[in-house]
Amino acid sequence: MKEIFDNYQFGKFNIKSCIIRSGLWESENGPQKSLSPKIFERYESLAKNNVGLIISELISLYTHDRFSDYSYYINSPYFIKEFKSLTEMVHEYEVPIFAQLGFINCNVNGKQMMEVNDLTIEDIRKIQADYVMGAKKIAFSGFDGIQLNFGNNYFPSRVMDPFENQREDEYGGNTYNRVRMNIEIIKLIKKITGLHIHCRVNLYKDFDDSLEICRILAENSADSLQITKFLSPQYFRKSLSNENMLVDFADKVAEEVSIPVVLGGGFSNMDSINKLINSTNVNFISMQRPFVRNPGFLSKWKENGYGESECKTCNNCYWKKESKCLIK
Ligand code: SF4
Repeated sequence: MKEIFDNYQFGKFNIKSCIIRSGLWESENGPQKSLSPKIFERYESLAKNNVGLIISELISLYTHDRFSDYSYYINSPYFIKEFKSLTEMVHEYEVPIFAQLGFINCNVNGKQMMEVNDLTIEDIRKIQADYVMGAKKIAFSGFDGIQLNFGNNYFPSRVMDPFENQREDEYGGNTYNRVRMNIEIIKLIKKITGLHIHCRVNLYKDFDDSLEICRILAENSADSLQITKFLSPQYFRKSLSNENMLVDFADKVAEEVSIPVVLGGGFSNMDSINKLINSTNVNFISMQRPFVRNPGFLSKWKENGYGESECKTCNNCYWKKESKCLIK
């Protein structure tokens, strides 16, 4: 019988629980856009309270594609210095930390709001080069891994989407071609850094094609996957059929690939998590909003042997794009 607070192997990392903290949006910035003491406090609270792995708040690949007033962006002149201090602090608690990197709107090579089918090969190379530069900074900053946001409505997820990608060149058509841009990104990052590559991937409308996308990523150097959907999985968990669909998909992916598979979204109590890890092939659960409500709740769960998140799932922190709870 598996338990939430067993030791788990996640790639090369031995982690102290199966719970992965996913980052949301940032809500605090200090003077000159530096990381504020409150951010350090939040990460310290996460690290010392039995989380298995921390994934940062969203870091934008492009400065103009920031998601909130406070979002980090990879080209900040303070990035390496600031995040090096943060990762060193988290490592004192022997917890690995990954950086979440993504972009939504595609504005490269002087062009605005490009669609998947409009990208030239030069545009694809530009995006790939930007990921490589971003990954280098992330590695220099002491992160253990990178979460490549190939899911939800991030642009790279739209490149893999069979309904959106109608290209007729080597970056469109069959499943492998649609994943090609992203696996080239993974391989380039692997060549120049030792980062663990964690990919966020959608269950699209076509179950089998989505499964094939996961297989291709796993066979082409991805080190772990997080299963999600176009919209936040929290919406889908409100409907039983959609909830089961996402669980079934993650279960099938975990059966087919030999890398860790994380299921994200909507879990709020120990019982449901213990049930999931013991009745499916999925070993890892990602949680976001419960940590926004209380970054240290896992220690309470561990101590009591049971627990329910204090988050009311109102989703205000998501809509306001803040990583702080807005409910008193
Ligand atoms: S704002 Fe709502 S969804 Fe966000 S942490 Fe607070 S209770 Fe949860």
